[in-house]
Amino acid sequence: MKKVIAIDGPSGSGKSTIAKLLAKKTGYTFLDSGALYRATALKLLNLDIKEDTPDRIIETILNNTKISYNNGRVFLDDKDISEKIRTPEVDRYTSIFSSRSCVRDFLLHIQREFSSNNDIVTEGRDMTTIVFPKAWRKFFLTASDRTRAMRRYNQLKVAFSDIRYEDILNDIIERDERDSKRSISPLKVGEGVIVIDNSELTVEATIQKMLDEIGAIK
Ligand code: C5P
Repeated sequence: MKKVIAIDGPSGSGKSTIAKLLAKKTGYTFLDSGALYRATALKLLNLDIKEDTPDRIIETILNNTKISYNNGRVFLDDKDISEKIRTPEVDRYTSIFSSRSCVRDFLLHIQREFSSNNDIVTEGRDMTTIVFPKAWRKFFLTASDRTRAMRRYNQLKVAFSDIRYEDILNDIIERDERDSKRSISPLKVGEGVIVIDNSELTVEATIQKMLDEIGAIK
C-alpha cells in the first residue's frame, strides 16, 4: 500500500509551503487538496452559481467537470488555472462551497485516486479525518490568528497592493469559523494526529519537528 503523510490545519498555518518542502525531502508526491476545492469553486463562480443553488444543479455541473492535479499545477476542464484560484474572491467562494456534500463527494474520489499510485504528502482540512484517516503519518499544523493573517497578507500583497491586513485577519477568522463549524468534514484535530503550533517556529524548524516525529515512529 502507498504511504500517505496527511496534514490538516487552518489557513495561514503554513501547510502548503511545509507540505511541498516535506514532499521534496521525502521524495513523495505533493497533493494540495485546497487547490482542488478552489478549482471547483472557480467553475461554479464562472457559471454564476449562488449559495442557495440546489445540490442537483451543482451535481449536474460537476458530472461534466474535469479537475486534475499534476506536478503542483491544477487543471479545470484541461485548462491550467493555478494562478486564477489565488484571489480573495476565490478564497471566500471556496469556503462557502466546500461545505456542500455534493462538492466534497466529487473531490473525495479524485483525492483517493491520486494516492493509489504514489506515496504522497497532502494537506487540507479533512485529510487526516475523512480522506485518509489511516494515513501513515498525520499532522495538524496551527498558529495564532494574527500570525496566520500576517503570513497571508504578505503572500497576497505581492499581487494585490491595496489589500489591508485587518481585512485579511477578518477573512481568516470568518473562513476558519465556516471551515470548523460546518456539519460535513469540519476542520478538527482527529485521532492519532500530532499537533504542531508553529507561531514561533520557522518553516525549517517546523519541517525538522515533523521529520523527527516521522523518524521516531518509523
Ligand atoms: O488550503 P486552502 O486555503 O487552499 O483551502 C481553501 C478552502 O478550501 C478552505 O478554506 C476550505 O474551505 C476548503 N478546503 C476544504 N477541505 C480541504 C481543503 C480545502 O474544505 N481538504
